[in-house]
Amino acid sequence: MDERREILAAVLGGNTEVLAALERDHARMVEASLDSNADDEHDPEGATIAFEREQLTAALTRTRAARERILAATAELEAGRYGVCVTCGRPIAVERLRARPLATECIDCARLRPR
Ligand SMILES: [Zn+2]
Repeated sequence: MDERREILAAVLGGNTEVLAALERDHARMVEASLDSNADDEHDPEGATIAFEREQLTAALTRTRAARERILAATAELEAGRYGVCVTCGRPIAVERLRARPLATECIDCARLRPR
């Protein structure tokens, strides 16, 4: 298998697993909040629960956004544009893609652009 394809497939696989786990947790959380009549504001546990909900929702949002980027990169791969530096048009080193699968610039261009 093409190395670039392999890298993206691995990232997508990892994202799918994380997303599935987060969605399970989220469904469980929604279920739990429907089951209980806990008064979040006056229950001493309420603040913790609210914080955990926020964390979970934020993680879900991040993971879904990452998935969008991975799917976009997969479309680029199909179009033969994945792993090509958007700035100089040269191929991005496979070692760099392994470390940063969604990198859009080669190491040389990225170094010239302080972030
Ligand atoms: Zn470049």
